Amino acid sequence: MDPGFIFVPLLICAMLGIMMAVATGFSYLWLRHVEGEAKRCPQCQSKGAGEVLDYELIEARSYIESDATRWLPSRHRRKAHPVQVEEKKYEVNYRCSQCGHEWMGVAMEEERSSSE
Ligand SMILES: [Zn+2]
Repeated sequence: MDPGFIFVPLLICAMLGIMMAVATGFSYLWLRHVEGEAKRCPQCQSKGAGEVLDYELIEARSYIESDATRWLPSRHRRKAHPVQVEEKKYEVNYRCSQCGHEWMGVAMEEERSSSE
């Protein structure tokens, strides 16, 4: 049997797995970021008790960052494209899992995409 028949689906599975891991990683980081902003309950001072109830976009701005690849070795620089940066500000509602107190905080999100 040609080992290529096994290798190709395995490769596709591996790539899908990596893509899913990256997507999960991003949402995990975003959640961690949101939680890190206001995890401590202002009512009972309980650490890490803040649970995200809801969040709403309150401000968004986008700009082009052209020197995002400055750290690359010069031979790669000519391949570099300017990066579109989307900055979003959210108003986040938290609820304390200990005492039920609800409060509001602000969290920032930054999204980068290559604009060719
Ligand atoms: Zn509390």
